[in-house]
Amino acid sequence: MSKKDLAVELSRLAVFDDAKLYLEQYSTDSEVAADILWNAHMKDLIKDKTIIDLGAGTGILGIGCLLLGAKRVIFVEKDKDCLDLLEQNLKVISENYEISTDILIENMDIKDITPDLFGECDLVVQNPPFGTQEKNCDALFLEKAMQIAPKVITMHKTVTKDFIAILVENNGFKESNYFYYKYPLKMTLPHHKKSIEHIKVSCWFLERKHSN
Ligand code: SAH
Repeated sequence: MSKKDLAVELSRLAVFDDAKLYLEQYSTDSEVAADILWNAHMKDLIKDKTIIDLGAGTGILGIGCLLLGAKRVIFVEKDKDCLDLLEQNLKVISENYEISTDILIENMDIKDITPDLFGECDLVVQNPPFGTQEKNCDALFLEKAMQIAPKVITMHKTVTKDFIAILVENNGFKESNYFYYKYPLKMTLPHHKKSIEHIKVSCWFLERKHSN
């Protein structure tokens, strides 16, 4: 699969139809998702790996991983309503592609994940709530991600850069790559006034120090 094919497939996926403000539900833009996942693929972070998509929503990140040959993808999402869309997206993908990935969908709060709940994982990929509704939700996701996998791909508002750097350092991780996006946020939540607003979002590729 080429990067372009990946972007096309991701752009066809269903997105939140009834986004919940308190959960900060917005789907990652498909071009941004394809760019991030392709970069990860080029760094050999996806093929044959076990990957957790935290706050999976309608599943765009985890589905991108399975299209790129992940061995196992675990989708974790606390909102039961959007899991129907996630399942619908998986169904469409599996009708068009031969997917050999082992898939697990967990309807749970990330707060309840213990470090060994899913066994050994290679990577967490996440676009968590930015913490504008539930304060510190971004930090909570990031700390949880660093507890459960030696490598993490995570997106946050660029203005939180210094705060993220401290969290990364304090948890024994280091940055291996950093990408900056002007992220098109479509009007899915009631307080979004323009039909498309661009926000500055960065993506960090992190790895545990001294990990193999
Ligand atoms: N990963 C998706 C969705 C991003 S929106 C994408 O990239 O398109 C953030 C998601 O995190 C929402 O689906 C929201 O319901 C979920 N979420 C928020 N708090 C959560 C929590 N504590 N535990 C699990 N999921 C949570």
